[in-house]
Amino acid sequence: MNTDETRKKKLIRVLSVLIRGHSFLMQHALIIGGGVIGAACAHYLLKSDWRVTIIDRDEFGRGCSHANCGFVCPSHVLPLAMPGAIGQTVRALFRPNSPFSIKPRLEPALWSWLVHFARQCNQADMLEAGRAIQALLNSSRLLYDELFETEKLDAEWETRGLLFVFLTPEGLDHYRHTDELLRQHFGLNATHYDSRQLTDLEPALKPGLAGGFHYQSDAHLRPDKLMTSWRKLLADRGAEVHEHCDFHGFLRHGNQAAAAQTSAGDKTADTFIIATGAWTPRLNIDLGCKIPIQPGKGYSLTMPRPAQCPKIPLIFEEHRVAVTPMQSGYRLGSIMEFAGYDMSLNPRRLDLLRTGASHYLHEPTCQPIIEEWCGLRPMTYDSKPIIGRSPALENVYLAAGHNMLGLSMATATGKLIAETVNHETPHIALEPYSPSRF
Ligand SMILES: Cc1cc2nc3c(=O)[nH]c(=O)nc-3n(C[C@H](O)[C@H](O)[C@H](O)COP(=O)(O)OP(=O)(O)OC[C@H]3O[C@@H](n4cnc5c(N)ncnc54)[C@H](O)[C@@H]3O)c2cc1C
Repeated sequence: MNTDETRKKKLIRVLSVLIRGHSFLMQHALIIGGGVIGAACAHYLLKSDWRVTIIDRDEFGRGCSHANCGFVCPSHVLPLAMPGAIGQTVRALFRPNSPFSIKPRLEPALWSWLVHFARQCNQADMLEAGRAIQALLNSSRLLYDELFETEKLDAEWETRGLLFVFLTPEGLDHYRHTDELLRQHFGLNATHYDSRQLTDLEPALKPGLAGGFHYQSDAHLRPDKLMTSWRKLLADRGAEVHEHCDFHGFLRHGNQAAAAQTSAGDKTADTFIIATGAWTPRLNIDLGCKIPIQPGKGYSLTMPRPAQCPKIPLIFEEHRVAVTPMQSGYRLGSIMEFAGYDMSLNPRRLDLLRTGASHYLHEPTCQPIIEEWCGLRPMTYDSKPIIGRSPALENVYLAAGHNMLGLSMATATGKLIAETVNHETPHIALEPYSPSRF
């Protein structure tokens, strides 16, 4: 963008601030996708005086952002691709009842994704991805604190940390290496608990477990409540939400998008934000770049709180089950299934959550089950999200591919998008997340 154009945009912003309420003077952003990423982009754009419309082909907040585990977790800096991950993946594929699976199929995009993933499984790429992930996680965590301090959002926000629990001494010993790596390279200091201390800290756990690591920086919330109350806040600030509005592509004018073509007609705006999560690769041609996102299906079970409900959110690494004690409920979640866009609920996978948790908790489940759910995580092979301008269209920006951490990275992503479209210096260097890196 040349200096004249930047000046023009700045002048328009100044005028729109001066004449608040005169929406014809405000710049208009159309956000495609009403998940947590779209909501966060809307929030920070509204804060910088944009007019905002969100469209979703389904209902706002009903995609992957609906019933995930609700962790906002700066402890999760490590990408999936790391040394040793290929062996672990192959072994998991041949293990019955593994929480990780790939539905075998001849899909070039999946095989290309897997090959690139394998190439990333080395120390240097792991650390590089980890640093990029950490920048977003740390910024987001602070922004969530600010968000809950300054806004009336009812999302059951709690800051009790996250406790990694190990059943066996082998599991615990294996994790010690990860803990050391997190300490050395990322400055993450967990508190270690032995078997006895663990049950003192969290009496909902069974006695005789090997030990655990507590990351006190982490927090959690109830994702569906966040989405409901965020939507209300955005609407109160003037955002429009159009549901059941399917985006198909752009009407172009040179290297600009003039309008979004949708099932509800063409929608014009000054700027377009693509926040379509796992479905983003379907827009490859329009965006002028490859979007190597594979849908990674995960499951959750939501119940009332059991009588012996944990106080602290838990992760059982050896069984890959996460436990979220919410103020108004209780959730088990996890599983990673690469099965394309199939949204069917596999009862065997849901059982893995129940049986996995039963090794660790006095009361692993509670009746009645309120919701059995699956969601598609937008998985990139380098575990980094895709944030930045589309190479093909100057007024189209991407905010997608947040893998297993979309909730944890949402606020920083929203802020980055607002900074970028406003031509401000981004608070985090954007290069690692560039849409052109693939
Ligand atoms: C079991 C499970 C547990 C998880 N736990 C956590 C956790 O504890 N912490 C964490 O940080 N992350 C967690 N995640 C990951 C997190 O849920 C995702 O990273 C995040 O929800 C992605 O947000 P999103 O807004 O990109 O996608 P979504 O929430 O899926 O939103 C994308 C939206 O785009 C819409 N859309 C798609 N295509 C179109 C189109 N063509 N036109 C219009 N609209 C369209 C969809 O309908 C959808 O509403 C978990 C995921 C799962 C499955």
